Amino acid sequence: MDKKNVIDVNLKNYKSLHGAYEKAVKEGKTGDDVIVWDGMEILISYLYYMLEYFEMVAPDVKEYARKNKITRERHRRADKFFAQTHCDRCSKPLDSFRIMSWFNEQILCPECNDREKKVRKAIGESGDNTSYEGCGYVPEIKVEDANGQDTD
Ligand SMILES: [Zn+2]
Repeated sequence: MDKKNVIDVNLKNYKSLHGAYEKAVKEGKTGDDVIVWDGMEILISYLYYMLEYFEMVAPDVKEYARKNKITRERHRRADKFFAQTHCDRCSKPLDSFRIMSWFNEQILCPECNDREKKVRKAIGESGDNTSYEGCGYVPEIKVEDANGQDTD
């Protein structure tokens, strides 16, 4: 095996890896997926740990991450996001689709996300109106589910 398998801990690599990570997340890749970066195959879940490691050991990377509000906490959350197997709200198994709640840090299945979208719509949360974003609770409001049944 003569493939390069060591990644230098420096700001250039950090930026490049972080860009690859964000691209992968946007494409809907999960922690078990593999991306090719600079000719190397990297498991996404390993990529998070690597980014976190860079932030711990390299002062210029730490400074860059601080300025750009890229915190280790955010990586940890991303890791939990992909590792989680069940919806936080209804406990249904999660497959490929999962999304962070608008209101708190729960990870939701498609049905709970749809219900949350209706709550957001009902309280007028959209576009620039984001006063409830990350408020930590879901406002109690009656919305109809897909069957036309009232739920809370
Ligand atoms: Zn759910």
